[in-house]
This record gives sequence, C-alpha cells and structure tokens, in this order.
Amino acid sequence: MEPVRNILRHKEASVKYYEAEATKIDYEKKVVYINDDSEIKGDTSSTEVPFDMLVVGVGAENATFGIPGVREHSCFLKEVGDAQAIRKRIMDCVETASFKDQSPEERKRLLHMVVVGGGPTGVEFAGELQDFFEQDLRKWVPDIIDDFHVTLVEALPNVLPMFSKQLIDYTESTFKEESITIRTKTMVKKVTDKTIEAEYTKPDGTKELETLPYGLLVWATGNALRPVVKDLMSQIPAQKDSRRGLAVNEYLVVNGTENIWAVGDCAIANYAPTAQVASQEGAFLARLFNSMAKTDTINTELSLLSEQQAKVSGDDRTAVFDSMKALQRQLRRVKQIGPFEYSHQGSLAYIGSEKAVADVSWLSGNFASGGTMTYLFWRSAYLSMCFSTRNRILVCVDWLKAKLFGRDVSRE
Ligand SMILES: Cc1cc2nc3c(=O)[nH]c(=O)nc-3n(C[C@H](O)[C@H](O)[C@H](O)COP(=O)(O)OP(=O)(O)OC[C@H]3O[C@@H](n4cnc5c(N)ncnc54)[C@H](O)[C@@H]3O)c2cc1C
Repeated sequence: MEPVRNILRHKEASVKYYEAEATKIDYEKKVVYINDDSEIKGDTSSTEVPFDMLVVGVGAENATFGIPGVREHSCFLKEVGDAQAIRKRIMDCVETASFKDQSPEERKRLLHMVVVGGGPTGVEFAGELQDFFEQDLRKWVPDIIDDFHVTLVEALPNVLPMFSKQLIDYTESTFKEESITIRTKTMVKKVTDKTIEAEYTKPDGTKELETLPYGLLVWATGNALRPVVKDLMSQIPAQKDSRRGLAVNEYLVVNGTENIWAVGDCAIANYAPTAQVASQEGAFLARLFNSMAKTDTINTELSLLSEQQAKVSGDDRTAVFDSMKALQRQLRRVKQIGPFEYSHQGSLAYIGSEKAVADVSWLSGNFASGGTMTYLFWRSAYLSMCFSTRNRILVCVDWLKAKLFGRDVSRE
C-alpha cells in the first residue's frame, strides 16, 4: 500500500485529506457526506464537504451476481484486509486438517482450495497458492502433502479471455504440470459453509449439477457498483441506462453533469477496469485541471491588462498590447488539451512456478510470450510501476525475505 499522506507530503499544492467514508454524494446540493468509520471518534464522526467540482474514484466492489452464500462464505481479493483474511483461513484449514483424528474426507475438504474466476486475479492467486504449498507448506506441514489441492473454476470455456489463444493454452498446460485443476464451463449456483454447488456444461451441451466440498473459497469474478456510486447515478437522469458504472464522456466528465468527473473502476469509458487505465485517467485529469487553472489565471491577467491599456498611451500602451498578445498565445496553447486517449501497454499475468504470460504492445503490433524470462519481465514491470522508490525497495525486500526464509505461515 502507498499511504496517501506519503504522496501528499511531496506536493506543493495545498491538499486536505480526510480518512473517511463518503456515504452519500448530493448532486443538487453539491455536498459529499463523509463518515469516520474508524474505531476512535472525535467530536464529530459525520460531516459534510461542499464542492464546486468533484472527482469520483472510489473503485468498485466485488461482483457476486446475487449467488446465495457467496458474500457470507467467500474470501475476496480486493483490499489488504482481504489478503490477510485469506492467509488466516489457509493456515486455519491447514492446521485443522492436521488436527488429531480428523476423518480422511474432512481432511480432503479442508485442504481443497477453490478459486472462482479465471481472469488474471484468479489465475495469479491460484498460481501463487500452489507455489506457497510447493515451496513452504510442504516443508512446514508434511502431513498435508497428499490432500492439498487447488481448483480454479471458470464459467467461460477458457481462462484469461483477454490473452491470445497460444498463451491461454500455455497457462492451461502449466497449471496441469503444477497439479492445479481448471474447471471451465462451470458456473457456481450456490455456496454453503462447506460446499459449492456448480453447474457444469458438458461437451454435448447438457448440464450437470455438482457439489464441490471446499476449505477455502476465493471469489475473484470481477467488479460491481459501490453503493455510493449507485446512489449518485440514481440522481442523474442521463445515467439511467448505465449499469456497470458512471458513464463518462471523452473528457471523463460524468454524462448529465458539468462539474463531476469519474476515473478508474467506477467510470465506464469502454476500457478494462485495470490500474493501467485508472492511472492514465488520473494523469489526464491532473493535466486537464492544471490547464483549467492556468486558463483562469490568464483570463484574470488579460482583463487587468485590458483595463490598464485604456489608462495609458504611447510606448506604455504598446507594451501592454504586447503582453496581451503573449498571454493570448499562451491561452491558446493551454486550451489545446485534447480528449482522453488510453495507451494500452499490454497484459501480464503470473501463472505459478516462476512463469508468467505477457501480451505486450510492441511497435505497431503485439508481442506474446510465456515462461521464466517473461516472469522476470513481469517482476521488473511490477517494480517499475510502484509509485515510489520507498515502495520499490519494500517490495524487493519482501521478495528477498520470502526467498531466504519462506513465506510467513503464522496465522495472525
Ligand atoms: C488482486 C488484483 C490484482 C490486480 N492486478 C492488476 C494488474 O496487475 N494490473 C492492472 O492494471 N490492474 C490490476 N488490477 C485492477 C486494479 O487494481 C484496479 O483496476 C485499480 O486499482 C482501479 O483503481 P481505482 O483508483 O479506480 O480504484 P481502487 O484502486 O479500488 O481505489 C479506490 C479507493 O477508494 C476507496 N473508497 C471506496 N469507497 C469509498 C467511499 N465510499 N469513500 C471513501 N473512499 C472509498 C477505497 O478504499 C480505495 O482505496 C488488479 C485488481 C485486483 C483486485
């Protein structure tokens, strides 16, 4: 995680940061209602923040498609707390499976780790989890060797739909070597505390209901609207037909408004919900706002000069006119900012046992690769994308620590 305060302290601009939840945005009143939902509260825990212009970048929630039991029994993979909950659950399953006099069926269930969702998040997690077993758990808890098993469940006919066919095949064969089971064309219908009920579509098109006992269930099937975004959309008639997020125009202005912008996973601008898109949108808005601020400053200076030129004559007047012309040229340059254009750098995913797949934009074409070299490329890409040198060093230290001493197997 990159603390916001760490970023702000290096900025010249005066930024006020409140660590709070935006519970409601009132579009008409131009007010954001915020709530301090931390454990320690001061005199006020709820308050209002008025705005002239607003940028919404609250990301998205986990999509559960209303499937019964998912919210209650799954672990998600979005916030840092989710990752901690997953680690706790894995270690709980491992320790309970090793508990004295456990029946063989119950051991098998506890050590069955199911990941639902065959996009990059689900694939990367399944690969990492198998690595954790192969590189660490095997040594620490040898009792579980025969029963630990990872299954990846996907409703579509293949995993990683955004990658080329060649890389999908490579991922599937690598998973086979790693003993990860991929269950495609399998749609989860219901989840209980110990089982998943799923519908499998057979090659002849007939469907079969199956029950999969599990110890850990990680749900990684994509994004859904956050309630605060849903509520804002309900206040703007032009958002009536938008289902997946705030529909924006090419300048990222929320359709139907003039003073609200949206970026990242909560905005719908026909790009994939990735950090790559979100960060480029953020940088675009920064340029746009800087340009708007400069336009305001130049317009103020121009009106001052215009008043001044009426009061002077001769050379002084010529000097004022020259300054006005220079400012008008500057104003034209500043106003030249075009609409947002996304530049896709490529797609990368780690698939376990120190291998990765990459579809990278190269000159005017595409470059697809998979294997150990791609894994080194994946790592260097991750490091280069870290926001600060501080985080780059921390990530390197984490990788080194895991290599030297293994991953942390403590439960808390
Ligand atoms: C496991 C995983 C791996 C991923 N890997 C990649 C990858 O390799 N490459 C890639 O490009 N993308 C990746 N993504 C997608 C990427 O993380 C998102 O697309 C990106 O983070 C979206 O940025 P955002 O700023 O829109 O939202 P977020 O990063 O989700 O940030 C939104 C922030 O808003 C806060 N927030 C939410 N609601 C409120 C509220 N009501 N009030 C106040 N604050 C609120 C949240 O706490 C959060 O800090 C991955 C996603 C996941 C889950």
